Amino acid sequence: MYRFLYRALSPAGAKARLSIFIFHRVLPVADPLLPFEPDAEQFAWMVKLFARQFNVLPLGEAARRLADGTLPAAAAVVTFDDGYADNLEVAWPILKRHGVPATFFIATAFLEGGRMWNDEVIEAMRIAPPGTVDLGAFDLGQWQVDSVDSRIKAYGAVLGRLKYFDHGRRAEVAREIGRLHGVPEACQLMMTHRQLKALRAEGAEIGAHTHTHPILEGLPDDQARAEIADGKAQLEAILGERVEVFAYPNGVPGRDCSARHGEMVRDLGFRAAVTTEPRFADGESLPYHLPRFTPWDRTPSRFALRCLMQLGSRRG
Ligand SMILES: [Zn+2]
Repeated sequence: MYRFLYRALSPAGAKARLSIFIFHRVLPVADPLLPFEPDAEQFAWMVKLFARQFNVLPLGEAARRLADGTLPAAAAVVTFDDGYADNLEVAWPILKRHGVPATFFIATAFLEGGRMWNDEVIEAMRIAPPGTVDLGAFDLGQWQVDSVDSRIKAYGAVLGRLKYFDHGRRAEVAREIGRLHGVPEACQLMMTHRQLKALRAEGAEIGAHTHTHPILEGLPDDQARAEIADGKAQLEAILGERVEVFAYPNGVPGRDCSARHGEMVRDLGFRAAVTTEPRFADGESLPYHLPRFTPWDRTPSRFALRCLMQLGSRRG
């Protein structure tokens, strides 16, 4: 279904439209507290659609062919941000089964099994007993948690604010919230070095995502540059090869990253970088600010339609 339309909207060559999809996690089974992360079953039909409707390429190759005007029809890239262990354990076997390549952007500070600042808050809201969660001491309000919905609402609002805290303070506050609520040490969500090497050895493309995942726009330029450079250097040390693609943390152009970060990324030797501006890329897109969007929808037919509508949308 729709195959003809995908190819009509996104022809091969100079008029190509490149769809770049963002994922973070793929859960082994659905988690009511994480309704926006696909589980293995949902991801499997998404990957089947990618395999059937698109020509999926690793980002480095897609960016090069976009610049050369040699993309195939209905070209797409599948990307994962942050470095969750479920990328290797759950997502990769499904991608591999369908022969779909993917690009994984890793924030190096969280490797070795730890968890990111956002997961400290999510896990704290998961285990907090029903009642009031008081985060007033951190200027993050008070939250009534007594249902799955109220827990999702609470962590969503807290993360929305905490995300833009001063970078060092953000990590400190998140850790403290996790500690106060007794988030167990055993809650280890990110890949280890060994797992990352295994993912690369399987043929996945690995990209950089800074060291500690700061909002670059909130940092002085020297720190932003150091974050980008550190993440790249650490990945290259682990993998023993050059890392040439990059994803901006959070990634909203103008708010989280801007043209000067694109210059830093270029000067540091990357070939392409992706934002989270939600639309397709084409010949006019800048290689250091390629847009991408988050796929969602609960049924394959709606998802197929959404991918098409995205491709057919007017150039913003
Ligand atoms: Zn990220």
